[in-house]
Amino acid sequence: MTRGGLNNRLLELLGEEGWLTSDLQTYQRDWLGIQSVELMGVARPENTEDVAAVLKLASGAGVPVTPQGGNTGLCAGSVPSGDGAIVLSMSRMRGILNINPAEFTVAVEAGVVLADLNQELAEHGVMLPLHIGSEGSAQIGGLVSTNAGGSHAHRHGTMQDLVLGLEVVLPNGEVWNGCRSVLKDNSGFQLRRLFCGAEGTLGIVTKATLKLAPIATEHATALVSLAEFQTAVEFGKRVRAVADNFLVGLEFFSNAGLELVLKNLSSPVFPLTVRGEVYVLIELSSACSQIPVGDLLESVLEEAFESGQLLDGAIASSEAQRTAFWKLREDIPEGQRLEAVQLKHDVSVPVSRLPQYIKETRERLEAELPGIQVNPFGHLADGNIHLNLTPPAGRDDFMNSAERLSNIVYDIAVEFGGSFAAEHGLGQTKVGVADRLRSPVERRLMAQIKQAVDPGNIMNPNVIIRS
Ligand SMILES: Cc1cc2nc3c(=O)[nH]c(=O)nc-3n(C[C@H](O)[C@H](O)[C@H](O)COP(=O)(O)OP(=O)(O)OC[C@H]3O[C@@H](n4cnc5c(N)ncnc54)[C@H](O)[C@@H]3O)c2cc1C
Repeated sequence: MTRGGLNNRLLELLGEEGWLTSDLQTYQRDWLGIQSVELMGVARPENTEDVAAVLKLASGAGVPVTPQGGNTGLCAGSVPSGDGAIVLSMSRMRGILNINPAEFTVAVEAGVVLADLNQELAEHGVMLPLHIGSEGSAQIGGLVSTNAGGSHAHRHGTMQDLVLGLEVVLPNGEVWNGCRSVLKDNSGFQLRRLFCGAEGTLGIVTKATLKLAPIATEHATALVSLAEFQTAVEFGKRVRAVADNFLVGLEFFSNAGLELVLKNLSSPVFPLTVRGEVYVLIELSSACSQIPVGDLLESVLEEAFESGQLLDGAIASSEAQRTAFWKLREDIPEGQRLEAVQLKHDVSVPVSRLPQYIKETRERLEAELPGIQVNPFGHLADGNIHLNLTPPAGRDDFMNSAERLSNIVYDIAVEFGGSFAAEHGLGQTKVGVADRLRSPVERRLMAQIKQAVDPGNIMNPNVIIRS
């Protein structure tokens, strides 16, 4: 079929609301401002049948398709890599199909926004326990496809642990209905997991059945300062040893990160008098008022003070204070963005090796570019570090060294037994790194899976695997 013929068929199928060929700017740029080239058009299907028909037509014509959710991805996965592709936006598939609070499950269409879902679920006393900064825009299909994880991942897992079943449209238009809603399902290969983190390269997630948790009603939140990262890891171990069942947040940030927030954001509230090299935010929560999470937190902090681990600490005494503590941690990326150009990284290492990882990475980066500023922050319970770099004053050519500097960060993470892509996936931006750091066996297996599911390579080419 010619492109003109395909265009006419898509217009016929989806109507003017569902097939757009002008004013496409919002679909062409992602969150980081990465701009795709010319699109053939944007398909906005209303249901699974539409998605299947679009993929059947696109694969028949050999036209690439990039699925797009909330467009908040941080590695250029949601915009096409080449000219003349179709963006398939899930923005019209926002149905919440079945809330089952008795079984702690919900069935949704993939275009549902996380915050909207949680608002609706709250009326039933349940929640999807995934807490991420982009929850006001990120959609279930995008969260599944990037296997998103956030600050609650230690307690509830990443998105793949919350997915019970999926419906997926395959590149040839076939529909796989794997929307089961049971936890125990060992009927062969775990196909649903294959699509978690596939970043739209194997098909389009159209529906999901998800595992829920009761809404926590009790919270206890504290912020503490510590002299060094090694003590922070030991303190984290102490918290987990006694309160792991109630731990929903164990976040860390450095004094350098705090300085950026205090300097660049309006009226942050910093509750401590003694500063340290590192700060840890702890949050315990429970859905039962009989469980005194506040007392538990207090006793952990008391013991840690007595053992000399903590320099200073404060427990939030109101909801406003709790929000202010979290804001210090969550505002770090914004504080850094307002300061200077930055190179962002998202890696993970085993928690016990985190201090050594930060030290060694700092040293190797400093040797490469003296005066470089290293800002590590992230999730202390699972070893996920956002390690962002800003240039020394006057180095306007900083971005010319980006690849060399980033490779130092990634290579050491792998040397330490960790991952060069912890939360955000590969998109287009990390494919080169993946090619370099994946083992030959891993590379071959992934290429074979892609070839088996998408032999025409129409699904999001150049994402995860280079075409
Ligand atoms: C401020 C901010 C904070 C963030 N915090 C976190 C965090 O804490 N943890 C974290 O993991 N991420 C975080 N992210 C990254 C991002 O929000 C997640 O990757 C999220 O899962 C992307 O969802 P989305 O709907 O925006 O997907 P998009 O950005 O639209 O797409 C992401 C990828 O999924 C594919 N895709 C989208 N929908 C579908 C579908 N229905 N079927 C198949 N493929 C699909 C796309 O092709 C693309 O490859 C953050 C981003 C921002 C901007």
